[in-house]
Amino acid sequence: MISPDSPNPPVTLDLDLIRKYSGAGPRYTSYPPATQFTEQLAELRLDEAIAADNRPGAGPLSLYFHLPFCETRCWFCGCTTVITRRRAAAGEYLVDLTREVELTAARMDTRRPVAQVHFGGGTPTFSPPDELRKLGALIHQHFRLAPDCEFSVEVDPRRLTEDHVKALQEIGANRASLGVQDTNAAVQLAVHRIQPHALNVQVFGWLRDHGFRSLSVDLIFGLPLQTPASFARTIDDVLGLNPDRLSVFSYAHVPWIKPTQRIFEDRKQLPDAETKLALFALAHRKLTAAGYVDVGLDHFARPDDELAVAQRERTLHRNFQGYSTRAGASLYGFGMSSISQTADTFRQNLKDLQAWRTALANNQLPLERGYRLTEEDQRRRVLIMSIMCHRRLDFAALSNQLGVDVPVQYAKEIASLANLEADGLISCTAQGVSVTPVGVPLLRVIAMRFDAYLSNSANRHSKTI
Ligand code: SF4
Repeated sequence: MISPDSPNPPVTLDLDLIRKYSGAGPRYTSYPPATQFTEQLAELRLDEAIAADNRPGAGPLSLYFHLPFCETRCWFCGCTTVITRRRAAAGEYLVDLTREVELTAARMDTRRPVAQVHFGGGTPTFSPPDELRKLGALIHQHFRLAPDCEFSVEVDPRRLTEDHVKALQEIGANRASLGVQDTNAAVQLAVHRIQPHALNVQVFGWLRDHGFRSLSVDLIFGLPLQTPASFARTIDDVLGLNPDRLSVFSYAHVPWIKPTQRIFEDRKQLPDAETKLALFALAHRKLTAAGYVDVGLDHFARPDDELAVAQRERTLHRNFQGYSTRAGASLYGFGMSSISQTADTFRQNLKDLQAWRTALANNQLPLERGYRLTEEDQRRRVLIMSIMCHRRLDFAALSNQLGVDVPVQYAKEIASLANLEADGLISCTAQGVSVTPVGVPLLRVIAMRFDAYLSNSANRHSKTI
């Protein structure tokens, strides 16, 4: 058990309010959300964006590497993956990734310190250990990692050996998030992902033995055949691992985008909306009772974990990987489908492996779409991220930061909060807006009131709970 010492009042769940307000909405890992990206690349001048990002005094770098291969498909999965058992695919991919790093690094100021590296997927450890060592050498050849660089890797315990862990440690990785999802055998069979819990225990031991200082576990609620009793057992299992952080994601059922998910409908295995809500409430209750702090959205952390500390001290940030403690970094994504971000642009790589490869063979940055933020977008981004990360809008501080009188400029949006205030999700004064403990599970709903694009994108997002 962890002793809860957060000065923030504990988040409380009001299931009636969650029922009332839970609808489709963005997760605000970016603003505007990626649904606003456009393929009119010439107008976006994204190549210029990299040059502009090299400005004097620019902040640190954050590097993301998308490693898309998976040996088998988990039927719930919404990630951009390539399913294959052909190990040589990882080596071939690394050749193209090397080309992309060379092309991009040549345009960047690579003297800037790297504050974050993240390997995501797919399954990063589909790559054999020596391929991971080569990828690490490529990163160290082109970039300068800060001494306190947060280097994290998404880990599938089914596709990991101790030699993978050694290779990751050698190249500087110090954090890992384990995809567990659910430890119940029937649920695992239903989602096509057999992963005995003993594997999770073994992998946690290897990672701790090799000096990984922060270990996180990913769970999903709303999967086929899950019941409150089965999910309670799953949570007890992962609490036994004593992770530093947990993410408890809501299963996003989007069969029109991921047709494999139709099998759950055909077999009538999905929990209904009330059961899904009960699963969410159960996870929240058990994790907070065990001393974890609800950092926001799906994230829980030990009270002494950097993420919980940053939430308390209002230095939390949000990026494409969720909540983060590293502020002001420019994000450079490598690999198919990866997203990059500078102060006023987003750019996303081609999502098709062959198209990404062909662009690189032609010495082109493999871009598919992007976005250039207007000044208004940038102001709204600050407001939305203030709600998502700090659970408040401080009118004086924000007016000062944004150079506009926030209560006047956003009077319509602030007035639209009236029903949320009447229901107790927020409290409003002349000085600002604060999210109450009951409002935290509905942060997205509050932030949505400041989103200028919602009307034309709402039905393309997942439900807020
Ligand atoms: S291993 Fe991970 S990325 Fe691959 S299909 Fe399963 S959930 Fe998706």
